[in-house]
Amino acid sequence: MRVAELISFTGYQLQEKLLSRELTAQEVVEGLFANIEEVEPIVRAYLLLDREGAVRKAQEVDARLKKGEKLGPLAGIPVAVKDNICTNGLRTTCASRILENFIPPYDAHVIERLKEADAIIIGKTNLDEFAMGSSTENSAFKLTRNPWDPKRIPGGSSGGSAAAVAAGTAFIALGSDTGGSVRQPAALCGVTGLKPTYGRVSRYGLVAFGSSLDQIGTITRDVRDSALLLQIIAGRDSRDSTSADVPLPDYLKELEKPVKGLRLGLPREYFMEGLNDEVRKAVEEAVKVYEGLGLSVKEISLPHTPYAVAVYYIIATAEASSNLARYDGVRYGHRTPGAQNIIEMYSCTRAEGFGREVKRRIMLGTYALSSGYYEAYYLKASKVRNLIRQDFSRAFETVDFILCPTSPTPAFKLGERLANPMEMYLCDIYTIPANLAGIPGISIPCGFTKENLPIGLQLMARHFEEAGLLKVARAYERETEWHLRRPV
Ligand code: GLN
Repeated sequence: MRVAELISFTGYQLQEKLLSRELTAQEVVEGLFANIEEVEPIVRAYLLLDREGAVRKAQEVDARLKKGEKLGPLAGIPVAVKDNICTNGLRTTCASRILENFIPPYDAHVIERLKEADAIIIGKTNLDEFAMGSSTENSAFKLTRNPWDPKRIPGGSSGGSAAAVAAGTAFIALGSDTGGSVRQPAALCGVTGLKPTYGRVSRYGLVAFGSSLDQIGTITRDVRDSALLLQIIAGRDSRDSTSADVPLPDYLKELEKPVKGLRLGLPREYFMEGLNDEVRKAVEEAVKVYEGLGLSVKEISLPHTPYAVAVYYIIATAEASSNLARYDGVRYGHRTPGAQNIIEMYSCTRAEGFGREVKRRIMLGTYALSSGYYEAYYLKASKVRNLIRQDFSRAFETVDFILCPTSPTPAFKLGERLANPMEMYLCDIYTIPANLAGIPGISIPCGFTKENLPIGLQLMARHFEEAGLLKVARAYERETEWHLRRPV
């Protein structure tokens, strides 16, 4: 089979071909690495590639298949993993100098699940340092480029995972989403990104950024693959006390069920100034597709939306300042040599180890939590967060799903927003509210701009309604072909 054909498959298609023995896992891995050799020098999605480990696992899968053994549901399927998810024995850097040489002695919960499912872990993907950013430009190690236009950013912070899935250097990938980091890069790279409900997937082994917001999500080529991957990683894990004990539906089985009669809400506040015209038109076209499928559509209001970005940047930075206190050069990670005393060691280590954006956030967060300011900032933000959550509960009394753009603009040029943090923060204006409320959201491709840049459509649902969310996303996908386009 030609490499070009092989790398065009989804995970689900690969699974069929592996089980019918039309392809071996080793052929899949070799074909994938052939494409990586060609494409990776341009896209630069990976911080680490584990070719040897991948080939070894592929051989094991093939040998067991040959013996007629029953394998896990992802047997032989290569998966790329964002580099803030711990992988036993494989360097995990968070794209930060402070963790440049950190090799975790354990696997994250999701990695254990992937391994039990017999998936093949091929490498670790680039991100904004500690997942702080929207363009992957805050990585301490490299810039990742958008496969649709290498002069542009892939989005962030899971930019490496999204770019790899779009470029055919991965079939499926894991990312993390604190304020939009799975959905926004998926939208900008023309792939599918799912952020599950807070608590649906264990955060054990995900390097913490904003602990009340962080959630691991999937980046795939279509909705079916999202269902496939979510099924593996979701579910209760006692090592994450916020992981929820809620029954797990059969996501693939729910996927093709009818959607007629379901109610969609379009939040007025998401279609105001700042929204790019081509994005607006594409989303409006998507609404027509849903109407054609027999869903009802009405305008709704989420009145506290204008506060979401401000609230997020208080809560996320406050939590980050506390979470990142552990990087002090004592037990692991970078340590500046030659300091005269421990205070000097701490401050030199942190000054050298963290990049600009991470330092900015640690300072903002520490300020928001400090005595005298706590009530004015952190406590106030927590209260407004509750109002945002209530906006959604109220909306879900009259609609089943919320439909809106994922990102206000398509992918912008490398460097374009680096000088102005505020402009960068506004990238996530439509994705942040779901994290604040803890509800699930998905981004699926819904069109292209005149410059051939992908546009993403976002759907949001009630807590733990991933099955419905995937079903409604899949219904759109069946009617359209945007998700089948690949960059040249
Ligand atoms: N872009 C947002 C931020 O910089 C969201 C990042 C994320 O979801 N990890 O915080």
